Amino acid sequence: MQFIDLKQQYSIIKPQIDLAINKVLNHGQYIHGPEVFELEAELAVYAGTKYCVTCASGTDALLMSLLAKGIGRGDAVFTTPFTFIATAEVIQLLGATPIFVDILDDTFNIDPEKLEIAIQICNSKGKLIPRAVIPVDIFGLPADYKMIEEIGDKFDLCIIEDAAQSFGGRIKNKKACSFGDIGTTSFFPAKPLGGYGDGGAIFTNDSEIAEKLISIRNHGQGKSKYDNIRIGLNGRLDTLQAAILLEKMKIFPKELGQRNAIAKKYSQNLNQYFTCQHVPEGYESAWAQYSVLAASTKQRSICMKKLRDAEIPTAIYYPKPLHLQGAFNDLNYSAGDFTVAESISQRIFSLPMHPYLSDDNISEICDILIS
Ligand SMILES: *Cc1c(COP(=O)(O)O)cnc(C)c1O
Repeated sequence: MQFIDLKQQYSIIKPQIDLAINKVLNHGQYIHGPEVFELEAELAVYAGTKYCVTCASGTDALLMSLLAKGIGRGDAVFTTPFTFIATAEVIQLLGATPIFVDILDDTFNIDPEKLEIAIQICNSKGKLIPRAVIPVDIFGLPADYKMIEEIGDKFDLCIIEDAAQSFGGRIKNKKACSFGDIGTTSFFPAKPLGGYGDGGAIFTNDSEIAEKLISIRNHGQGKSKYDNIRIGLNGRLDTLQAAILLEKMKIFPKELGQRNAIAKKYSQNLNQYFTCQHVPEGYESAWAQYSVLAASTKQRSICMKKLRDAEIPTAIYYPKPLHLQGAFNDLNYSAGDFTVAESISQRIFSLPMHPYLSDDNISEICDILIS
C-alpha cells in the first residue's frame, strides 16, 4: 500500500498526459508557453478569483505575495506554528518577524481569538508593525475566515491564505485560495492537485497585486524584458508542468469526491477510538492528509508500529511545531508557549490518503488501528 499513490493515477491518465507532454516538446515554448496562461485562466475560474498567477512552487507563491505587499524588516506577520516550515520561512527570509499564534484543538487551524490577542500585544509593545496574517488550511481544511477576515479589517492587516494543502476545499460555496486578500497554493506532487514536479499559484481579486506578482516572478520586469523596476526572482512555472496540470484538472473534481468519500469512511470507523480532525458545518476539506490524534505519544507509537508491521505507511505531520525549530531560535520561543500545537504534535499521525485507496485498504487500516 502507498501513502500517496501517484503512479496509479498516472496509469489511469497516461495517454492524455503523454500527449500533452509531447505537444509541449514539439511546440518548444518551454518557458511561459500557451499552456501556462490557459492553466491560469482555468484555475482562476475554479477558485472563483479574478486573477491567478502561476509560479515555481508553493514557497515562491508565499514569498512573492509578501514581496508584492512590500513586507520586510520591522514588520510582523502572524501565522500558525503547526504547519510546514515554508509558511514561516518566507517571512524570516524577507527580514520580517514571524509571530506565532496557537491553533484550535479540533480543526488544528489558527485560533482567531488568540490571533487578536497577539496583534494587540504586538501593538502595545510598539516595536514591530503588524502587517499580515498567513492562516494555513491545514491538511486541506480551510481556516475560520469569517473571524480572520473581521480581524484583518479591524487591524488593517493583509490576509494571505496558505492554501498549499487545500486546493479544492471550500466554505459553503467559496473555494480555498479565494479567502483573504491573496491565496497561495502548491502543485508539489503530493498535494491534492499535484504536478510531476514543483509548481505553485497565487490567487487574488486585486489587479494591482496581480500586476506586481507578474513582474516579481520575472525578476521585477517592467515594460520589457530588460527593464527591471523592482527586485524579484525567477519564479516561473514551466510549460510542461502547466500542460500536466491542465490534464490533472480534468479528473480533479472526481478525485476530490473520492478523497471525501475515503475520509468519511475513515471517520466513521475511527471516530470512537481517535480524535479525528473536526470539519465544521458548511466546510469541505481537500484532504491533503487524513490525520488522527492518539490519546498519547505512546499510543501513537503503538498504532504506527502495528501499521508498519502490516506494511502500511504512516507519517507524522508535524512532529515539531515551528516555534521549537532551530531555524527560529532567534525568535526566543520555548516549549510551553503554544500548548495546543505542542500537544497535537506529540499525538498526531497521518494515514494513507489518495483517491485510489480501495474499500479493502480502508477496512484493513481501520481494523488494525482498532484491534
Ligand atoms: C507544501 C506546503 C508549502 C510549500 O509548497 P512547495 O510547493 O513545496 O514549495 C507551503 N505551505 C504549506 C502549508 C505546505 O503544505
